[in-house]
Amino acid sequence: MEKWELINSAIDEKAEALYALSDAIWDVPELAFTEENAAKLLSAKLEEEGFEVARNVAGIETAFTGTFGSGRPVIGILGEFDALSGLSQAANSPVKEALIPGANGHGCGHNLLGVGSLAAAIAVKKYLEETKVPGTVIYYGCPGEEGGAGKAFMAREGVFEGLDCALTWHPSHINSSAPHSSLANMQMKFTFDGIASHAAGAPENGRSALDAVTLMNTGVQFLREHTNMKDRIHYAVTDTGGVSPNVVQAHAEVIYLVRTPHLNTLFPLVERVKNIARGAALMTDTTMSFEVHKITADTVPNATLQKVLRRNMEQAGLPKFTEEDYAYAKAMSQSIQLRQKVLPTVVILDENLAEVVAAHQDDYLYDFLIPEFPYVVEGSGSTDVGDVSWNTPTAEINTATECAGTSMHTWQATAQGKGPIAHKSMLFAGKALAGGAIDLINDPSLIEAATKEWKRRLNGAVYQKLPPELKPRKAGKKQ
Ligand SMILES: [Zn+2]
Ligand SMILES: [Zn+2]
Repeated sequence: MEKWELINSAIDEKAEALYALSDAIWDVPELAFTEENAAKLLSAKLEEEGFEVARNVAGIETAFTGTFGSGRPVIGILGEFDALSGLSQAANSPVKEALIPGANGHGCGHNLLGVGSLAAAIAVKKYLEETKVPGTVIYYGCPGEEGGAGKAFMAREGVFEGLDCALTWHPSHINSSAPHSSLANMQMKFTFDGIASHAAGAPENGRSALDAVTLMNTGVQFLREHTNMKDRIHYAVTDTGGVSPNVVQAHAEVIYLVRTPHLNTLFPLVERVKNIARGAALMTDTTMSFEVHKITADTVPNATLQKVLRRNMEQAGLPKFTEEDYAYAKAMSQSIQLRQKVLPTVVILDENLAEVVAAHQDDYLYDFLIPEFPYVVEGSGSTDVGDVSWNTPTAEINTATECAGTSMHTWQATAQGKGPIAHKSMLFAGKALAGGAIDLINDPSLIEAATKEWKRRLNGAVYQKLPPELKPRKAGKKQ
């Protein structure tokens, strides 16, 4: 059998089982590092499919791998499966209605991500079995992507070492394989402690931690003008000290998330934020302590691998949608008040892309493949796929699992995670990744070129592993 016959039969014959698996993960949305159900379902499926499964990888209860084959090249396929808090939503409903108010929901489509990647691994395994060519495929069950940097913890323990490359995908409202970067980030908590006092009776005896948080936030606001254009600094006040204004608040906490284009510029920027916190403590005569929650690397783009995957998206063929699917997409799309654009403005400055984007601006379903990007798209978000990309050449594609205009981390994203468009595009992603992996197995010059590009882009920079004392933080616990 030739490549596409093998891939299509391996995935299509298991389509219903793969849909059911993805739906079962959607049904039990679990937050970062608490994904016991999802990890159990996915690792059991890997075992059933004949992969050698390792659990508790890197000392993380919900991290696992499934390996098949022997010898080089070694291709990693990354899967995620964690959910988000507060995004509970009835499946396939174009109206906002939480299944359980305030509960978790799969608002980033990771139920699809984990299973689409698994489909790819199954097809690559079948190819290796049938053709007996040397090569190894490893499925990585990566927990805690949302705010957890799970892959950074896995990378610290060396689980991505020895890979020739890593491939993955992410649910989206577009079909695309573009070389892209993402921002490095660090999340940390600043705690201020002062002295409580009666705010009217003895204010001179009080030292306000809440004032320190306010001054820190003001100081960072002034800092923003004097950072690089692409740096982003966000914050959330998580403890104001209390609800009584007649008390001088003796304890207050604020969480900061600092993003910057390169891991190497992250630490100096964080130091400037820390200096402002120190200044706030000095001004208010309080004490300040600092705790890192997570660090995520930027993504090293790889145009060589993206090209291989793009060709395979074309070869696999885009999913065929029915009239009902289009009607579904229309109803969903019309529920979105502020539709996400087809592509960010910075990208559509390119003339060819601008034309395509303009032609599809009012579509309800972007059922086409975005034309090839002639340059690297600089992403404004962050992902722990970045940490993998510092360890091995890495590429990530998008497939349109959602109607046009859907933003991730919304109730509309949760609603569509079990729909017909999601299912079809999940298998499309699996097929394209499998096709790419097989090309890389068959043509060593592709991995050679991807590695050369990877080294050129890193330009001698060395991956900075997470500090040894940092531990994965189970979501839902007090930060
Ligand atoms: Zn997300
Ligand atoms: Zn995501």
